[in-house]
Amino acid sequence: MPLEKYWKKRKFSETQRGKPPREGTPEPKGKLKKSSGNMFVVQEHKASHLHWDFRLELDGVLKSWAIPKKPPKTRKIKRLAIATEDHPIEYGSWEGTIPEGHYGAGSVKIWDKGTFELIERTDNKIKFELKGKELEGIYELTRFKKVGKDKWLFFKV
Ligand code: MN
Repeated sequence: MPLEKYWKKRKFSETQRGKPPREGTPEPKGKLKKSSGNMFVVQEHKASHLHWDFRLELDGVLKSWAIPKKPPKTRKIKRLAIATEDHPIEYGSWEGTIPEGHYGAGSVKIWDKGTFELIERTDNKIKFELKGKELEGIYELTRFKKVGKDKWLFFKV
């Protein structure tokens, strides 16, 4: 189940009969969709370390990578991108503050959002055209196995 990891890492608000209500993260719980659109979103996340979360709508979820440095608008700049857990599609329109003590505590703000067209997708490479306000053009994510199993490179081609 693709969103299992996402749900396990977070505590969502709960109201259960006979129990005091639990105040959880304001992030959406979301659910797995049967089909995918073609949204991409980049969220600036001021957590313990500032990073940019790059997300592509694929397989009914938002496939996600954390990029420690601002995503490049021009060619010849390669950014490390660390694959993170799939996020629900609802997350792509969410902004807010994750409270202290919760996973990813800090502010989340949409830095760019738009659509993409998938050009190529294999286990080790995803190539797509981005149509956003900040990011436009053909980009690639390729696995960077030398550095680690969740490590990828993100760059404009
Ligand atoms: Mn993040």
